[in-house]
Amino acid sequence: MDKEQLLNFYKKFTEGKDFKLTENEEHLDMILTGLINNQKKHGIRSCPCKANNGSKEQLIKNACPCKFKEEEIWTKENRCWCGLFERRSTAGASADTADDS
Ligand code: SF4
Repeated sequence: MDKEQLLNFYKKFTEGKDFKLTENEEHLDMILTGLINNQKKHGIRSCPCKANNGSKEQLIKNACPCKFKEEEIWTKENRCWCGLFERRSTAGASADTADDS
């Protein structure tokens, strides 16, 4: 999978979800490059930001997308560890709901 294919995969993955890809294009490109490099190096598209001791078990555990919504950083900072995915803003929806009541 090349970078464009991977980007399209993540775009589809985020469709209709409460999270989206980062809008910082430079950061996005850096993470995608890291993921592709790990795919080539390890045969697994493991996270480029998390510690990696080279064990297959850890590479699989950190395969992207990981279970980032179970991690504290999602609750505290509304993003995955790498910042590839960010929570979609719900500010507009909340305001609309408040106006309706
Ligand atoms: S932290 Fe983000 S980039 Fe890293 S594996 Fe999880 S979802 Fe992918």
